[in-house]
Amino acid sequence: SVKPSHYRRIVVLGAPRVGKTAIIRRFLGDGFEEQYEPTTEDFHSKLYHIRGERYQLDILDASKERDFPAKRRLSILTGDIFLLVFSVTDQESLTEICSLREEIFTAKSKLTKSKENRQLPIIICGNKTDLNSSRAVQPSDICQSLGEDSALFEVSAKECTNLEEMFEALAVLGGLPTETR
Ligand code: GDP
Repeated sequence: SVKPSHYRRIVVLGAPRVGKTAIIRRFLGDGFEEQYEPTTEDFHSKLYHIRGERYQLDILDASKERDFPAKRRLSILTGDIFLLVFSVTDQESLTEICSLREEIFTAKSKLTKSKENRQLPIIICGNKTDLNSSRAVQPSDICQSLGEDSALFEVSAKECTNLEEMFEALAVLGGLPTETR
């Protein structure tokens, strides 16, 4: 069985078409697709073993909630770890990450009552590193937009690069104290 402290609710957010669904499906062990059905299930669960410890990762693909701010806000409130995805081929998708992060801070600080607490469990993910020739975002741009201290993983869902490392980091990052959920 899974220890109560090893449950994680991960909310995946980002601009459309950056590869959120591809990343999650890859992690679940599915193949890569050029096109994902818009109707696919948006909530996933996976038992994950890290160094002998069992974690249950509940992963919400919040893609479809983009046009529903109230629904997205609810997802943010119920999440304890956030994966913010952009595409390294799309500068605007990085800008979107900045506003999503502010949205998370705003929503969560109402609960934690400490507006200064910027230590929320957020991992930034730059996807599509396989498209190196059309790269539009450099790691230095990311530091400039988000600050030096943000946890960043560059991955490729297509080539399965760095995905395991990123999800392991997500799992061991830990959640918020339960009273803030
Ligand atoms: P979402 O809207 O963020 O969930 O994006 P999807 O997962 O549906 O992916 C959008 C498009 O980008 C699809 O055509 C995917 O095949 C493609 N895609 C996703 N990840 C990668 C990647 O790592 N490399 C490349 N080359 N294409 C990708």
